[in-house]
Amino acid sequence: MSGRSFKIVVLMDRCKGCGICISMCPKKVLEFSKEINNMGYNYTYPKNIENCIGCKFCEIYCPDFAIYVKPSDQPKAIIKVSQRIPRPPQEQE
Ligand code: SF4
Ligand code: SF4
Repeated sequence: MSGRSFKIVVLMDRCKGCGICISMCPKKVLEFSKEINNMGYNYTYPKNIENCIGCKFCEIYCPDFAIYVKPSDQPKAIIKVSQRIPRPPQEQE
């Protein structure tokens, strides 16, 4: 135990559910949410936040700048609605 804690912020509406962050994380901190975001994707979220070692691989490799990590006095998972992207209009008769 390093004694260091981290805050992970996910900008949920930017996430396209590609899973890169999940596969890059050496501590299996991240997982797909069961809920979908405004873009229609299962966004990632920090399921095991207390295991985070702050390596920032998730932040560095995310192609959409949808996740970032900062030192914190205690482990914290924050899911932010970053931008309201309207759903595509439904077909109308
Ligand atoms: S900072 Fe490292 S350990 Fe923490 S969630 Fe991201 S990839 Fe995983
Ligand atoms: S946070 Fe980024 S890397 Fe992770 S699933 Fe979403 S878009 Fe992909």
